[in-house]
Amino acid sequence: MNYKRFLVAIIILIFIIGGVYFIGNNNVNNETETPEPTNNNANNTAEVTKSDGSEFLMDTLVRLRVHDENSQAVLEETFNKLRYIEDKLSKTISESDVYKINENAGEKAVKVSEDTYKLLQESINFAERTEGAFDPTIGPLVSLWGIGTEDAKVPSEEEIKNTIQKVDYTKIELQEDNMVFLKEKGMSIDLGAIAKGYAADYILDYLNQKDVESAFINMGGNVSVHRNKVDGTLWSIGIQDPDQSRGNIIAVVEGEDMSVVTSGNYERYFTQNGVRYHHIINPETGYPARKGIVSSTVISNNSSYADALSTSFYILGVEKSFEIANKMEDINVVLVTEDDQAYVSEALKERIRFTVDELEVIYR
Ligand code: FAD
Ligand code: MG
Repeated sequence: MNYKRFLVAIIILIFIIGGVYFIGNNNVNNETETPEPTNNNANNTAEVTKSDGSEFLMDTLVRLRVHDENSQAVLEETFNKLRYIEDKLSKTISESDVYKINENAGEKAVKVSEDTYKLLQESINFAERTEGAFDPTIGPLVSLWGIGTEDAKVPSEEEIKNTIQKVDYTKIELQEDNMVFLKEKGMSIDLGAIAKGYAADYILDYLNQKDVESAFINMGGNVSVHRNKVDGTLWSIGIQDPDQSRGNIIAVVEGEDMSVVTSGNYERYFTQNGVRYHHIINPETGYPARKGIVSSTVISNNSSYADALSTSFYILGVEKSFEIANKMEDINVVLVTEDDQAYVSEALKERIRFTVDELEVIYR
């Protein structure tokens, strides 16, 4: 091959490799990357851009928006981190920590990542704080009901009685060296009520470390914001309406550096003989929780707390929930009841606005 043809071949090769790399990097569905006005100080000459992306992870559509000088790189790294968390915590991925713990229940301890170990510690903590309403060993009951799957059914009382025996967070043994043991065969861990919150905290930590300008994360009902909006104003986050006939949201909360997490009976459920069976199970009864609440929202700058507590408060009902929330710092609550009342933390008064008339708002 003469020198000229060799050069042309090299240039074509570079284009092909470059093209493949570009396509590969677009798999996070980057929608836009445009210069933005910012509240940066005048000395900062680098341009802040916006990158949007969405990906189906943890069985939900995760949507991210990042404003930063390196918004696209941050967006991609954020999705990498989410995939990492899912790979550790999913109970269906056969290489995950949770899968391995469950598979070896009653047999032997397994070594897990530092992240999984920490989250299990935190989960046990919540189980204690909520007197067992939140139970990370809820797995056997979740499987028995199968809500959200094709096999969803109302189990017999006998089945429920037997399965409740397998749900007991005090039988999680956290041993030295990140080893975890479930003491009985048939037990299983399910972190579905806290893992999305944990994933959000994991990302928020990263965004803080990177000093990212501003970001918005939506993981199917779990919304988190990093700092304030890029123009310096507060974010407005809508709280979903459990009764869609009234519209999409019941209220708007304003803030920065916060997570707004809602648990409800309106997404994963099935109906039999006019009764709605949803996915938040009361470990005491073995049945979907019925304490008169239709939607439970927790607002906090700690997303794991917001996630674990929104599920717990749904199970515990209004009185017990406020008793717990009012003892904690930075835990603000909006509980909507079947009879159209909204119980709201006093501390939210100045930054929540209700958008529907039907609810009687009671501050606590
Ligand atoms: P939340 O109110 O936050 O949590 C409800 C969920 O928590 C229930 O679905 C149940 O899993 C669990 N739960 C119920 N009662 C209790 C209780 N008393 N204490 C503690 N936990 C309880 N779904 C799939 O269908 N397929 C998947 O492959 C899959 N993979 C996932 C991987 C990860 C890492 C995560 C975090 C979730 C995954 N999910 C998957 C979704 C999961 O099963 C839950 O349905 C989902 O997390 C519910 O979130 P939520 O915000 O709607 O409800
Ligand atoms: Mg939750």
